[in-house]
Amino acid sequence: MKKTQATKGQTYNFVVIGNPIKHSLSPQIHRLFAEQVQVNIDYSTLLVEEKNLEIQVRNFFAQENNKGMNVTIPHKQKVVALCSSLSADAKIAGAVNTLVKTKEGELEGQNTDGVGLVADLNSLNLPLKRQSLLIMGAGGATRGIIAPLLRAGVEKIYLTNRTPEKSRQIIADFNFTDKIILFDWQQLINQVEVNTHIDAVINATSLSMKAEFPQLNANIFNESLSWCYDLFYQAEPTSFVKFCQMQKVAKSYDGLGMLVEQANEAFYLWFNKRCDTKKVKVSLAKILKN
Ligand code: NAP
Repeated sequence: MKKTQATKGQTYNFVVIGNPIKHSLSPQIHRLFAEQVQVNIDYSTLLVEEKNLEIQVRNFFAQENNKGMNVTIPHKQKVVALCSSLSADAKIAGAVNTLVKTKEGELEGQNTDGVGLVADLNSLNLPLKRQSLLIMGAGGATRGIIAPLLRAGVEKIYLTNRTPEKSRQIIADFNFTDKIILFDWQQLINQVEVNTHIDAVINATSLSMKAEFPQLNANIFNESLSWCYDLFYQAEPTSFVKFCQMQKVAKSYDGLGMLVEQANEAFYLWFNKRCDTKKVKVSLAKILKN
């Protein structure tokens, strides 16, 4: 893929599409990146209903200076069909969160969620090599994070989901059958003995959106876990993070850092420039609180 080269003085336009979209933090993140590396961008949000997805994506990219788009819920899967090519991570995830217009004017679909998660876990100094992780959830986000986690050296991924057919489908699609293992949801939500060794847990369900978090199995969530990570984020600690803290898990984080890191990967795909994400994470946490 030929990447966009930033031209001095030129303003490039970007949008994030989704429904709902007005609370997206992506415009602020990308504006902070652009300031750091001194490129001119105009980044806005665009509310897109499913029936208008194709026409709005095509119309946006028909304009010469409109260079890239981020895609969020609920369009990440549907937008795949509009891409001329897909990165390996987007292909295996079956989901795209970043669109890049190539020099030839074609759309390349990328998925930077997993690389973003791994970058945040690394920045938090959380071990991944030879670790056994439990991932809760089998939606679009889980599909995006599995391959980058395995590339980062994770030994085993235990996958659990309320609807087990969806975990089974992921295991079949990924074809790493010895690395991704089905874990019974009942073992997660009931207070039963667990004989599986788990080093850390990633919550990729949308359970944290609910204020009431279920009492998950205390035989998993206790001092023996080295860390927990919630992909969800909000101004206050998420209900999963609060639950893990209550269970005395040593370290628990939310997904704000992942949001910044996945954006950094998208920015790199558009401008071939890397930004200081540490500074942006600090600014963003302040923006979120206000
Ligand atoms: P999704 O495709 O809609 O999947 C949602 C998942 O949550 C499914 O596994 C679903 O289980 C599970 N779930 C929902 N309600 C549940 C309940 N009441 N009890 C048990 N399980 C429940 O969503 P997604 O795109 O994968 O996103 C998942 C989470 O990751 C969201 O909170 C999203 O905000 C977050 N995320 C964060 C970032 C970031 O940059 N920080 C990036 C991507 C996603 P079933 O299959 O049984 O319905």
